[in-house]
Amino acid sequence: MSQAATSRVQEYIGDPVSDEAPVSRDKLEEIFQDIQADLRYDHELNGCLNCGICTATCPAAHYYDFSPREIVQLLWTENLDGIYDAMQEKIWSCAQCYTCAARCPFGNSPGGLVMLMRETAIKHGMESAKSVLRPFSRVMLKLISTGNQLAPDMINPDHFADWGPNISKVEAPLETLRKAIPMPTLHTTKTAWEVNLKTSVELYTIWEETGVLDSLETIDENLFDVICDIMDEKRDDYEDWLDEQDED
Ligand code: SF4
Ligand code: SF4
Repeated sequence: MSQAATSRVQEYIGDPVSDEAPVSRDKLEEIFQDIQADLRYDHELNGCLNCGICTATCPAAHYYDFSPREIVQLLWTENLDGIYDAMQEKIWSCAQCYTCAARCPFGNSPGGLVMLMRETAIKHGMESAKSVLRPFSRVMLKLISTGNQLAPDMINPDHFADWGPNISKVEAPLETLRKAIPMPTLHTTKTAWEVNLKTSVELYTIWEETGVLDSLETIDENLFDVICDIMDEKRDDYEDWLDEQDED
């Protein structure tokens, strides 16, 4: 009988009854290597006793099918299939409160490791990342184009239906109320505070240099295009402003 070398390692991961393309082992390895290559990885994973203290104190574990102990074990044992599987849904349950990091006897940061997995999911344009971030496109637009996360004009009954009757408390003449605040940078409802052109342009350079814009392009090309247009416009405005200063 032939003793041809066979491998017990599954070559592909995927649902056998799904039309989704299977994920090759090379891809699984690439994803894990990207997580491991991050400078933070070795600081956030030092070993694991499998004691479960992190899960016992994790608020997300109380409400979701999620366990920081499981996430750490998957990474520590280099379970590539399990890591990929967790990146489909479970990692998005973490509240990033870092209670786990404060309690782990090994000095691990399960929440920090989850963050690395999320960033890698975005980098690889995983569907889970796209669907989790899709409802936040308005916030991302505001944040990347102005540096402000939330603005008074975003708080209205249409967007916060779950506030119930409390929403009436913000149905006020916001323009007038904002102008009553002594600080002039708060006399706007379009952003939490006014951001000057120079600061905006510096912010855009940070987004470009740190790869934030590349990540955005991977997960939402339309939003990326809109933000690039805004950036070009603001940069032109800044150049005009500089020219005006030279003329004076
Ligand atoms: S990550 Fe830390 S707290 Fe969690 S199971 Fe491992 S050793 Fe225990
Ligand atoms: S950071 Fe995430 S994993 Fe850690 S305790 Fe908070 S919710 Fe749980």
